[in-house]
Amino acid sequence: MIKELGRIIAEVQSLGVAIPSGIPTRMGGAGPAEAGFIVIEGITVSVPVASPFVGSSPYSLVIEGGASALFKEGSFRASVELIRRPLFYDFSTVGGVPYRKIALLHGRDCLATTLLQRCSQWRYNRRCRFCGIEISLNSGDTVEVKSPSELAEVSSSAKLLDGIRHVVITTGSGDPPGSEMKALSEAAYAIKTATGLPVHAQFLPPEDLGWLEVLKQKGVSTVGMHLESPDPDILSRVGPAKAAIGKSRYERAWRKAVDIYGANQVSSFLIAGLGEDIRSMVSECQAMADLGVYPFVVPLRPIPGSSMEKALPPDPGYMLDIYEDVSRILNRAGLSAGRSHAGCVRCGACSGLRAFESNEASVLCHAAMTERELQEAFAIRRMVFVDEQGLFEKTDQDEEDGRSLHLVAEEQGVIVGTVRVFPAKDDPSHWIGGRLAVICSKRANGAGEILVTEAVRTVKDLGCRRFTAMIQEINVAFFERLGWRAVQETEIYRGKPHRLMEADLG
Ligand code: SF4
Repeated sequence: MIKELGRIIAEVQSLGVAIPSGIPTRMGGAGPAEAGFIVIEGITVSVPVASPFVGSSPYSLVIEGGASALFKEGSFRASVELIRRPLFYDFSTVGGVPYRKIALLHGRDCLATTLLQRCSQWRYNRRCRFCGIEISLNSGDTVEVKSPSELAEVSSSAKLLDGIRHVVITTGSGDPPGSEMKALSEAAYAIKTATGLPVHAQFLPPEDLGWLEVLKQKGVSTVGMHLESPDPDILSRVGPAKAAIGKSRYERAWRKAVDIYGANQVSSFLIAGLGEDIRSMVSECQAMADLGVYPFVVPLRPIPGSSMEKALPPDPGYMLDIYEDVSRILNRAGLSAGRSHAGCVRCGACSGLRAFESNEASVLCHAAMTERELQEAFAIRRMVFVDEQGLFEKTDQDEEDGRSLHLVAEEQGVIVGTVRVFPAKDDPSHWIGGRLAVICSKRANGAGEILVTEAVRTVKDLGCRRFTAMIQEINVAFFERLGWRAVQETEIYRGKPHRLMEADLG
């Protein structure tokens, strides 16, 4: 099953998908770009949709009667979900800049911004050949520099309107190279202060490793320093500025970053399909994993307009082999996308690795972002609170659902549990949790604990100072184990004894 899903993901990422017009896509930018986002069995995948080679892809997306599916040469391959266009795209900053020129939705719940849209390496003739950072600037889709106040404004709105859960800040090199670190720290601080969300920053390993400490103090949760290729000769050809920095500086920076941020919170992109030997790719991934660095392997995504626009992504079979080997390395090292607090590893859309990790990080937790996820969450609640416990007659849905954030626990693409959180009407710093429900057969696999832990983390991110829930007496001990305490005597609610409990927000 995993292998089949992994095969589909590897194929659509390398061959592309013909999509009907009107589906939101991403063109240009730093790193992998030219993408549409689809969700296949719960896994968000970014796929080429506009490159010339997509014209000969056997894959097409068909939307009919509100349902979407992936077809290969006319045969059904998988049901897919589309990520809705974010509401924040319709707004502009107080200075009149459209929000979508400041930051974009990546995947299902990640806000991504390119802080400095020019890269000084382009002027020194040392640009990365696969990068399209200045392309979207030249086409007017973005602005050259995003200010801390603009980023604070856009990220706050994206969080409020679209349930954004983490933020990626990437950047071109400043002039002189290295000067971007100060701008990054200011941007991260502004976003963190405005939203409380986990922030991921991507940059070249700085000469002064003290910047890694500074970023942490400014609110950065995870960092990415991208080696791009395990092969030094290839790197000199496609990423001369990175090659000039030298592998040893990368390693020093990774080690220091793991000391500061922890294992699994430091990552490096590795682009497969640049001509490297598969053994060098796998052994580089092993070396990174040994340091606690997550090797984020992605297929080459030639960006129209970049100097590699005529290249082709790697063969899907090659990617499958890499994903299988690297996921084994990740599992052995205890690294997983599910444990990453923010950034590309957490988003995962540009790589196929997530499909192969599922046996290890079996339960993931995130906000319900598609209609299917929301309806499955409601179905689980009905099963538990109506059918099993008889607390409600026909449905447990009520007026609070419309203003709640619904978290879901997902196992291998299947929703297995849910919980909702919403702010009290009279006090926005007081949040209320409830409707924790996990399907019967999955109660032993930790889904309930993951949902409660994630709910606490989420409301803290949202500025909560008091988090309470009415807990059935029978579950009080479970919540106490998770650091909650009862704050009222038992009372009967809907015919069953309950206690009001409060979370320890640290
Ligand atoms: S993996 Fe990174 S670059 Fe790719 S869509 Fe997600 S946040 Fe964006």
